[in-house]
Amino acid sequence: MAASGKLAALRLPPLPTIGEIIKLYNLRAEKQLSQNFLLDMRLTDKIVRQAGSLKDAHVCEVGPGPGGMTRSILNAGAADVLVVEKDSRFIPSLKLLAEAAPGRVRIVHGDILTYRMDRGFKPDIAKKWEDEPPNLHVIGNLPFNVSTPLIIKWLESISTRSGPFAFGRTRLTLTFQKEVAERLTASTGSRQRSRLSVMAQTYCTVKNCFTIPGKAFVPKPEVDVGVVHFTPLAQPQIQQPFNLVEKLVKNAFQFRRKHCFRGLAMLFPEAERPELTQELLRRACVEPTLRPTELTIPHFRALADAYGQLCARQQGLASYEFREEQRLKRLHRKRDDAGAATTVG
Ligand code: SAM
Repeated sequence: MAASGKLAALRLPPLPTIGEIIKLYNLRAEKQLSQNFLLDMRLTDKIVRQAGSLKDAHVCEVGPGPGGMTRSILNAGAADVLVVEKDSRFIPSLKLLAEAAPGRVRIVHGDILTYRMDRGFKPDIAKKWEDEPPNLHVIGNLPFNVSTPLIIKWLESISTRSGPFAFGRTRLTLTFQKEVAERLTASTGSRQRSRLSVMAQTYCTVKNCFTIPGKAFVPKPEVDVGVVHFTPLAQPQIQQPFNLVEKLVKNAFQFRRKHCFRGLAMLFPEAERPELTQELLRRACVEPTLRPTELTIPHFRALADAYGQLCARQQGLASYEFREEQRLKRLHRKRDDAGAATTVG
């Protein structure tokens, strides 16, 4: 069979529209779960196209809801679609879809934040990390309060080659609040440059594909939505452990409008702060007066390497948290004040 004929054979038979499915199964969107559905198949097709060719692909769709995007994934020729949905109300409509595409849809009723995706697919689909990405894709239109913690968790999984990345450099196509999508892809010097930009771009090639106006969703969310595509890098831009990189980047952006040394200084205990901050910046050859948003990925690489060296030299530095030091200080002050009051009384 010609390739286009094979794809046509994989197309779904006529089904009720997603709007009809929602009515049929009484699937009211739950505000609590931030549910906003996409009913327009041209849009779900467009999102799915951003993933690249899905011919014979394995796909994990996160948060399928009533299954609009699942239909687009199936119509794009995916051979095996594993859907992970937290809300049990959607399971019957997903089962209907599974019956329409025999052997191609597997349904997991669960939470993507805890789901072990490394167990969801056969090991033989894996590719070596340095090779081309495997024919496995993660696609999803999740609530924003899930997609941001999830991408942080998955960036860490990239660093350990676990979860979806136990199969190689699995590509992700996910939706975010438009502003978050802009932060994920923001370049050095831009207004949106943030901790998320540096973390994402350290581990992935990130592309902000297009924006979907909020009015395309039912019910309409307050914000517009960005579709972002991630391809894990064969070699992360920074070679230090994920926790160290995350801590460094978080501190660097602590005071985003101030000079970068202000935030970086908080990596060190108060008693040695000026000397160690100076040493860090000197070792990394970074100008202390650059703003956090002006720091490039090579700057962060040099800072992470220098901070790694300081942590190796000085016991306890890696686990130092300035907020904890401040909390203990406040506690001691309170105790001292209470002691003084008792003495006076
Ligand atoms: N993908 C569908 C669409 O585009 O119309 C639904 C989108 S709706 C914004 C998000 C979906 O993710 C809902 O079906 C919701 O129940 C599901 N969901 C929310 N949190 C989840 C989680 N932690 N794990 C799996 N699914 C989740």
